[in-house]
Amino acid sequence: MSVYLGIDVGGTTIKIGLISQEFKLLKKHAIDTRADTENANQIVSRMMQKVQELLFENGYSFSDVIAMGLGAPGTIINKSGLYAFAGNLPFDNFPIRDKIKEYYSGPIFLGNDANMAALAESRLGAGQGSKDTFMITIGTGIGGGVVINDRMYTGFNEAGAEIGHMVIRLDGEYCTCGRNGCWEAYVAAPALIEQTKQAISEHPDSILAKIVQPDEKITGKTVFLALDQDCPVAKEVFAQYAYYLQVGMANVINAFMPEIIILGGGISNQGDRLINSFKQGTLDDSFLFGDVEKPEFRIATLGNDAGMLGAALFAADSLEDGLSF
Ligand SMILES: [Zn+2]
Repeated sequence: MSVYLGIDVGGTTIKIGLISQEFKLLKKHAIDTRADTENANQIVSRMMQKVQELLFENGYSFSDVIAMGLGAPGTIINKSGLYAFAGNLPFDNFPIRDKIKEYYSGPIFLGNDANMAALAESRLGAGQGSKDTFMITIGTGIGGGVVINDRMYTGFNEAGAEIGHMVIRLDGEYCTCGRNGCWEAYVAAPALIEQTKQAISEHPDSILAKIVQPDEKITGKTVFLALDQDCPVAKEVFAQYAYYLQVGMANVINAFMPEIIILGGGISNQGDRLINSFKQGTLDDSFLFGDVEKPEFRIATLGNDAGMLGAALFAADSLEDGLSF
């Protein structure tokens, strides 16, 4: 029996999945990334040894693997096989495909983790039934992934769909990319935490301030806990945050007009409360005049498996499109 390998490299763990030809996750295993203590060679060697073990334990060998897909943060280039830039991980123009080939000689397809997750959600998760979807993952940063006509779209050099770095306010907040006013600097989790902290310091007697226990960290959830208690200050923070979401979402719609916008990441656990906070404003702001169909917003459904499944789907798509690496 033949399987796909779907690998999702993250800042703290690397997830390895054995995936059927029908794109069911048969087995998965996670190992530590060890970005602080190991170099790129060591990380990939350890990952491939674990891949081999996982195959063997489940009665497979590398000869049963149809293709491998690997998603990772930053810029990882399928065409050249180079892991060009990885932010917090020790990959710097690292020839990752050549390294993997030392263990597995079959086809290997590489891509950005947010794009892989978008492909999985589009085809197997919240975007099922549509060929034009856009996934926005709200976490430490903003991950963007666009699927156009049922294929992942990343631009000519595979570095595109970085929707978080679209400026929504000139001369606004500093962003990690070096510009000011990027959407990410207003809606990623650290931004919401900062907005919450600011409101607490301005309103020390609010419910929002009082639900934070001494020595307790303010997180992306704090404002929602206070909202549950009808805190007016929390409502203000959330309304402002929702407005930042609205502006960026309308930009996404105007640029790509996806049929379904899928929201992932920790804040998406807020579900309908989150979507309803910006939905109408976004549609009002978008270039949607007259009797045209409106895009829909949905919460991602595949959770942490999306990266592995998307990597396998990308591998299968690439083979179908006649690519071989
Ligand atoms: Zn930026």
